[in-house]
Amino acid sequence: MKNYDLIVRGGRVTGPDGVRVADIAVTGGKIADVLPAGSGVSGTEEIDATGRHVLPGLIDSHVHFRTPGLTHKEDWAHASRAAVAGGVTTVFDMPNTRPATFTPADARAKDAEIRGTSLVDYRFHAGVNPDDVSSLEAFSPVEAITAKAFLTGHHTAPHVLRDPARLDELFAVAKRKGLRLLFHAEDDAVFRLLDQWQGEPASYREYERFRPRSGGIVAVAKLIELARRHGTPVHVLHVSSREEADLLTAAGATGLPVTWEVTAHHLSFTAADTARYGARIRLSPAIREQADQDRLWDAVLRGEVSTVGSDHAPHAFEDKVLDAPDAPPGLPGVQELFPALYTGLRRRVPDATPDELLPIVTRLMATEPARLFGIADRKGTIAPGLDADLVLFDAARHWSFGPGDIQSKCGWTAYAGWLFTGRVERTIRQGRTVFSRAGGFGAPDGEWLTPSAVGALR
Ligand SMILES: [Zn+2]
Repeated sequence: MKNYDLIVRGGRVTGPDGVRVADIAVTGGKIADVLPAGSGVSGTEEIDATGRHVLPGLIDSHVHFRTPGLTHKEDWAHASRAAVAGGVTTVFDMPNTRPATFTPADARAKDAEIRGTSLVDYRFHAGVNPDDVSSLEAFSPVEAITAKAFLTGHHTAPHVLRDPARLDELFAVAKRKGLRLLFHAEDDAVFRLLDQWQGEPASYREYERFRPRSGGIVAVAKLIELARRHGTPVHVLHVSSREEADLLTAAGATGLPVTWEVTAHHLSFTAADTARYGARIRLSPAIREQADQDRLWDAVLRGEVSTVGSDHAPHAFEDKVLDAPDAPPGLPGVQELFPALYTGLRRRVPDATPDELLPIVTRLMATEPARLFGIADRKGTIAPGLDADLVLFDAARHWSFGPGDIQSKCGWTAYAGWLFTGRVERTIRQGRTVFSRAGGFGAPDGEWLTPSAVGALR
């Protein structure tokens, strides 16, 4: 009988459409077969997954791992440990590093700095240079098939695209190049107008009022109109309000190439929590009201939203607790993403079983990001021929997320002491264990996913 490198035996193998008990056979880092449980096949290494759910390695399509140039906040080695401890095996890193990822050479230099330090596989979103949007023309699919633009700025995002003519040009360039555009969609002109009138916020409690939903609603309406005019695919990041959720869902329903993301932070906290958490949950876009959070959860459960990302954006705690105008928005989250999403789902739908809820996680954090961002021929599904990226998850486990669990270099979490339901027990990337609760971390040999992975799009 054939001998495989690895057998993951008897787990509840989870896809976007459901769960079945199966044995997964792995050879050469790829899934060779998914067989009925009790198949009797053998492997050099065998892992008993009885009683565990086995999900495809999760994809976080929105992280700021701060490499290069901001490694005093976070570095790739720490951030990728946080990722695999949370079941994430592939990340898409954002371009607002120093230097920013504005050219193919920037992307290649970034890869050179990361290589040998990463427990996860990775791709980059290219950065849109507001002074020269046509610089995107130089990217080949090897370097990037997605580009991120900021329509408003903050401490670590100084490159704001303010000129409507340039924004229009960006849509034309992206359409020509076949790039998907990602947006921080808050309108800078709306915020500047309000700042001139009412000044800067004096406390965290006022933050939501000073960076209101109107900024997001105006920006989203403009992006929908541009998508209609140019036909360019658009993915709106970290949607925070019920009005934006409605507009984007309606636009998608008319057949426009418009998709959107929510973050676990916006699903986990409300503006009322700011009184207790203060700077720790200061985010851009702001965390809004209960009714907004309810709408975002509805979008998760109805399948209106396409991806859930972490927006992992660590800052040193000393910076976070500066006075309100000086404290940078953003918080760590790649490690907390899956447990926070699953715990939230359990609270929202207490009568649902893990077999009903985990396919939702799989769709939002594996299948859909793989499809949208061009790596579905390697990632996002447990099927023969794809990379053997697997997460063993104990759905019944209740546990507290404590200081000893934190892997991010920043060393703090907004979820300190939270009681999570469901815990990642082991994470496998390309057939090798990169994290296990008993054995720690594996080898940092994650790869920049290159041409074969994007070949399907060419
Ligand atoms: Zn972000």
